[in-house]
Amino acid sequence: MSEIIFPSQRPSRTKIVATVGPACDSESMLTQLMLCGVTVFRLNMAHSVDTEEAQRRLNLIRLAAGKLGRPIGVLADLAGPKMRLGEIAGGTYICDPKIPMRFIRGEKTTEPNTFTTTYEQLIDDLNVGDNVMLADGTVTLRVSEKNYGSVICEVIQGGAVRSRQGVNLPGVNLSIKTLQPHDIVHAKWAVGAGVDFLGLSFVRSADDIHELREILAETAHRNTGLFGEIPHIIAKIEKQEAVENIEEITDAANGVMVARGDLGVELDIARIATVQKMIIDTCRRKLKPVIVATQMLESMHSHTIPTRAEATDVANAILDGADATMLSGETAVGEYPVEAVRMMNRIAEETEKFITKCGWYKIDSGNANLCVQNIIRSNRSDANKSNENKSSEGKLSVTTAICSAAVGLAEAINAKRILIASRSGVSVMGLSNLRSSVQIIGTSQNPRVLNRMNLYWGVIPIVNAPSDPRESLKEIVEVGKKVGRFERGDRLVLVSTMGPSSENHNIIYAHVVD
Ligand code: PEP
Repeated sequence: MSEIIFPSQRPSRTKIVATVGPACDSESMLTQLMLCGVTVFRLNMAHSVDTEEAQRRLNLIRLAAGKLGRPIGVLADLAGPKMRLGEIAGGTYICDPKIPMRFIRGEKTTEPNTFTTTYEQLIDDLNVGDNVMLADGTVTLRVSEKNYGSVICEVIQGGAVRSRQGVNLPGVNLSIKTLQPHDIVHAKWAVGAGVDFLGLSFVRSADDIHELREILAETAHRNTGLFGEIPHIIAKIEKQEAVENIEEITDAANGVMVARGDLGVELDIARIATVQKMIIDTCRRKLKPVIVATQMLESMHSHTIPTRAEATDVANAILDGADATMLSGETAVGEYPVEAVRMMNRIAEETEKFITKCGWYKIDSGNANLCVQNIIRSNRSDANKSNENKSSEGKLSVTTAICSAAVGLAEAINAKRILIASRSGVSVMGLSNLRSSVQIIGTSQNPRVLNRMNLYWGVIPIVNAPSDPRESLKEIVEVGKKVGRFERGDRLVLVSTMGPSSENHNIIYAHVVD
């Protein structure tokens, strides 16, 4: 466990999501992680059996962020229908290719070569020929016989399995619902607690997202009597069906996570890299933030530096176009959580220098600009059924063109920052998606919108800045100076609104800080 207090680091443009666990479960550790680059903390609800524990961690995060005067994003990750083995006598069992295994109904067994699982419908859903993957995909069983009370499996790939380890059924049509009763309890808590993002595990179709959104909206209405803010939904892509339905799922969700842990078991692991690229590309086209997760710096659980392959993996995710990269066990239970964040931040910074130097994203900037228009439209007509829906297409394309022109102007005059005020954050995401070398500063009167900007590549949200740059330019610049974002002589490009059409951004102007 790290005990040294590290100096703070300049945060990378790529956002860092860190999972909270015993290794960083204190105000001082959370503060250090933020100072080293974390912009979003993940609460893994699979491990928070009660919402009290999640609430305690959330309070600590908000306290630490408040003291630093920074907005912070919090992502509560719903467990979904994760299947697990039941208890195994002695805790461990070695699956031997010469000895067939049996799954039976129920929670416990003392019979030899027999497993139970937490999934009641397992026996009903499996058919002869289906694969059952255990121990993170290291052990493969294949169903050879089925009767009412049990299935018999050949052991195709043997190895050790432990009680309560995950069970994956790649390609099997599951009858279980994606949203489980415990997820609903956690989702309702998240609405009341003001969590910014909700991850939904094992999503299979857009309907899963719609169902969760309805529950969130109903809960918000019941809590406040208003159709107010609800957490943004992050669809975790970890099943073959989700990969097949990626277009609809991305349209329905507010963001996506490439959840490579389970994805690497549910899909042929050889496909992971190309599927990751395809998912990221879909998100960029649809203007949704995308997180690449799991085993990014895995060896840093117990080492102070990552392997060459891990460092390359983080860089490649950024080059693919990820908005954020995620740390799981590295920060939750690892020995070097601060070092892992610092390392991820350093790799991101180096990669971003390369991106700027060689114009990496310019290669397809024509496409990106074209896409932003469609994307802003689809994003606005989606989620939250908020005021965004009221916007006409003509106005949206003005915002799109303004974002693109702002980037052009900022690059032409060598501006230090682009400053944009936003009510919903959608136009900020539009700017972010253009992957400009100029850092974007986001302001909003809505603290939830500021927190969510922490998932958008290249955007720094600042608090306490008035949200209308046109009327309050001086005040905004003062706040920017106070938090060290602007200095005298800096050139800024401001994106704002003027005239009767006050709903959308329609002007840009250049300003020199005095
Ligand atoms: C994953 O499977 O990659 C993932 C992020 O989900 P979890 O950590 O909940 O298993």
